[in-house]
This record gives sequence, structure tokens and C-alpha cells, in this order.
Amino acid sequence: MSASPAQVESTDVLVIGAGPSGLMAANVLLKLGVRVIIIDAKSGPTRESRAVGVHSRSREIYRQLGLAEEVERRGRLADSIQFGFGRHGFPTIPVAALGRGQTPFPGIWILEQSENEAILAERLDSLGCPVRWNTAFVSLDSEYDGASVRTVVRSRTAAVGSAPDALSESVPESDFVIESRYVIAADGGSSPVRKFLQVPFEGATNEHVYYVFEANDLAGIDDSRVQVRLEKDDFLLAFPLGSLARPSARNRIAGIARDWQPAAKTDANMQVTDITEDDAREALDRVFGVTYSTSEWFSTYRVHHRVAKEFRKGNVFFIGDAAHVHSPVGAQGMNSGLQDGHNLACKIHDVLTGAMPESYLDDYERERRPVAQRLVGVTDRVFEAITSPDRLPVLLRTKLLPVVWPGVLATVPLTPIGKRLVGYVSQIRIKYPMPTKTSHPVLGRRLRWTGAHGFDNHEPLNAMTWQVHSYGDSAREEATRIAQERNMEHHHFPACPQVNLPEGTVLVVRPDMFVAAYMNVRGHKTSD
Ligand SMILES: Cc1cc2nc3c(=O)[nH]c(=O)nc-3n(C[C@H](O)[C@H](O)[C@H](O)COP(=O)(O)OP(=O)(O)OC[C@H]3O[C@@H](n4cnc5c(N)ncnc54)[C@H](O)[C@@H]3O)c2cc1C
Repeated sequence: MSASPAQVESTDVLVIGAGPSGLMAANVLLKLGVRVIIIDAKSGPTRESRAVGVHSRSREIYRQLGLAEEVERRGRLADSIQFGFGRHGFPTIPVAALGRGQTPFPGIWILEQSENEAILAERLDSLGCPVRWNTAFVSLDSEYDGASVRTVVRSRTAAVGSAPDALSESVPESDFVIESRYVIAADGGSSPVRKFLQVPFEGATNEHVYYVFEANDLAGIDDSRVQVRLEKDDFLLAFPLGSLARPSARNRIAGIARDWQPAAKTDANMQVTDITEDDAREALDRVFGVTYSTSEWFSTYRVHHRVAKEFRKGNVFFIGDAAHVHSPVGAQGMNSGLQDGHNLACKIHDVLTGAMPESYLDDYERERRPVAQRLVGVTDRVFEAITSPDRLPVLLRTKLLPVVWPGVLATVPLTPIGKRLVGYVSQIRIKYPMPTKTSHPVLGRRLRWTGAHGFDNHEPLNAMTWQVHSYGDSAREEATRIAQERNMEHHHFPACPQVNLPEGTVLVVRPDMFVAAYMNVRGHKTSD
């Protein structure tokens, strides 16, 4: 590699890939005052809707970034879901209140991926750190000087940092070097960085081909609700798009292209190349009685269930699809990528400021890889049950499900198990291992929210700092002492036994809202 000094730039963190995961990581780092460069090989932001559901936990993170209102303005609440079989829809299930009382953001927010990316990219623009489009990762030397990574990128813009509209076909490609303490590889499921570093991507690829597109003027189905339809050999997902402020006649449609093209080919980006929209249009009409006028775009893909063997390779970290890919079941893909970016960025800040030792960065893999493994395992099993051509799953789908499903769906969310399930789907029940000798239900989890009981203990965490929280007057003195000793902010609240924060509770809460230490001055049960 040869580069003149003028072609070398330095920064704290280089983020490779400006999908939702990379954009989130860059936003959190910038908010915390870390120097960032973010590049993407594409010429501009994603136009396709792709992922459409934003879960409660992601909206809590958006709130920390001051973006919750913008997410709200551009999206809409999924007020109900209608399951069904073939052309027959079951009674609708209200879902707007799922998780109410557990989070400031109950329910599932419908905001397409392109809008999520636009919101995050616009914030980067306003912070003076725009995405450098047309700039692709080429190679890196992670052991360049023992402390930093030297990355070669290839840009077609006039100079590193130029706006996309500066691009001209006549501008030749040129290579630049970016030296950074850390690299975050957020470069998607086909991650060139992961391949370059030869990190295995363990798992399997589902045999079937799926299609996804945006349809206008859907008919034959209630297009104002989220729709989930099963059949013996098919399934259909439909999400209404647009916001209350900007209503839209568009729906996001996804389905399975079973047996249409047994030998369908997949290109380098995992897109399937020889299934057409006409095939999908015909199947939707024939199986579900669903028609539409026009479409915005059409894409096909194979579902992969894979997790990277390592989430960290030296000073290079993998987040989002570069670290794990799974089926769209439960709309977890984009959400878990957002949380990877948030988790890692907070840790990198703590290490760069000297608040934490370098080894703290190992906790990123320790915390997020098990989450990814569980996610891949669960979505794989559910996906298999929905799509398997085997006799038992087909029997369940065609005979049992139409009878029991409406009752199950109406009652389960109200039960304790159902509430837990909601917690998992909305990603507010994630638990990380904490390096402490004791255990407690609040330890290692995102801080339980007290908003339904008269005060909001999440609000101070918008500062994204380490904090000591105390609950009830008896906890105040000890919490003040701990906060002074550790040089942290202290926030005091009334006791809230309803969410397991009774009189005497003292917590150390991380910038990402997870509880790192717990004690109760009355019971003196302490974690280190
Ligand atoms: C057609 C389709 C439909 C989907 N539907 C759903 C859904 O309904 N629900 C759901 O949860 N998920 C869905 N997904 C998955 C979801 O889109 C991903 O989980 C999400 O995009 C992951 O975000 P990411 O930022 O990790 O990766 P990506 O969004 O893939 O972003 C990676 C970025 O890296 C860039 N890049 C790649 N190579 C380089 C390089 N060499 N140099 C620089 N930059 C590079 C790419 O241009 C891209 O912008 C869908 C995906 C597809 C393709």
C-alpha cells in the first residue's frame, strides 16, 4: 500500500457501512464527543423500505439521541394485527398497548428502514459528520502499529469527504488511508471486512426464496392493519406504510416463492436473480385473493441464519448484519443492529476517555453475541414452523391453527408469559452477564421504567452518562457517597416497588441504560 501523507486521515473510529447499524454507532459516538468517519460504498441512502418495525427498545435509544419525536412524526403505531388463513382473516388483535407500563414507547412503531436511515443520516449532517458515500472499504492492517488500524478505502468522490453530488463519472477512483484507533464493520450480511479478516459466519441458508416489495392500492385485504396470512405452502406479510401526518396507499409485502424457481440463482449480495414480480402478483391473487395497482420496487432474497464466530478481531468490531443475520420473523434485524451500534459506541467512548480499561471492549462480544445466537435460534425455529413443507407443520398450519389461533392470540398477551414474550420481542427484556458475584432481577437488564407510577427515571439517562440512582429516602445518603466516590451523577427518586425498585435501592446505571450494580441499603444485598 502506498499513500502520500495528504491522502492519510486520522480519527478515533472509522465506521464502515451506513446502514441503520453503522449510522446508529456513528450517532452515539458523536453525541459522546468521539471523532468519527463514516463511509459507505453506495452512492446515497437506501431508498427501499426493507425492515419496517421499530421496537420499544430502539425508540428508547432514539430518545437518548433526541430523535424520538422525529421517529414519531415520520411513522405510525401498528394499532392492530390481523392473522388469517388463505383468503380468510381472523378477528383483529389490538397491539397498540403491548408493553404499556413497561416502556415509554409501547406497541410496534412502523417506520421503514429508509426513514430510519434518513433520520440518522440527517443528524450526522447537522453534526458536521456526513456519510462519505461512494467510498468503499478495500483492505486493512489491524496490527499496523499495535494501537490503531490502518484502512485503505477507495473513493470516487473528488476528495475524501466530498458530498455525493460532487461525484462525476469522469472522476477517477482513488485510494485513501484512514488511520483510526478502532474500526466498526457495519457493512452488512456479505461484510467485505468480515471476509477480509476471515472471520467465519456460522449457520445455514434457508432453502426457500422470499420476495419483498412495496405495493400501491392493495385490495382483497384490510390494508390499514398489519396482516399475517398463512396457507399450506405460502405466507403473506403486509405492513401499511406512511405516517398519520403523511398517509400513504403503500404496503410492504413479503412472501415465499416456494417451488416457483427451484434452482433460483443468488448473486453476490444474496439477492435472488430470476424470480419476477409477475410471479408474486399471480401467487398473491391465487392464494390470498390479494391484488394491487403498481409497485415501487421488487426484490428477492434467501433467508440466512448465521452468527459471526467473533464479534471482535483486534481493534475491529462487527455489528448488525455483519455480525448476525436471521429471518424477518419478529422484525428483529434492524432493531438488533441498532442496539449493537449503541452498545459498542458507549463502550468505545468509555475506553477512549480512560473511564474503562481496554478489556472492557471484550464485553461487547460477551453481551451481544449471546443475544444474536438466541435471536437466530428462535427466529430460525419459528420460521421453520411457518414455512416447512413437512407433514406435521403443514397439518398444524392447515388444520389446528385456524381453529385455536384466534383464541390464543386474544388471550396470551394478557398472561404473565405473554407479557414476557412482549418484553423479548420489543427487546426490553435483554439480560447481559455482569461481572458481579450476586444476582438480582434488575441487574444486567435495561433499567425498569417507573413512568407508569408517576415519575420518569429514564429521563436523566438522555445524558448518556454513568449514573447512580437511588429509590426511597433511606437510599439517598449511601447513593450520594457512591456517586462522589465514583465521580458519577446522582439521581434520586421515590421508591417504586411495583417495578422491583423498592425503598433503599441503589443502582449504578450505564450510559446504555443497563444496570451494572445493585444494592439495597435495607437488605444490604450488594453487587460489586
Ligand atoms: C430486501 C430486504 C428486506 C428486508 N426486510 C426486513 C424486515 O422486514 N424486517 C427486518 O427486521 N429486517 C429486514 N431486512 C433485514 C434488514 O434490512 C437488515 O437487518 C438491516 O439492514 C441491517 O442493517 P445493517 O446496517 O447492519 O446492514 P445493511 O443495512 O446491510 O448496511 C450495510 C451497509 O454497508 C455498505 N457496504 C457494504 N460493503 C461495503 C464496503 N466494501 N465499503 C463500504 N460500505 C460497504 C452497504 O452499502 C450498506 O449501506 C431486510 C433486508 C433486505 C435486503
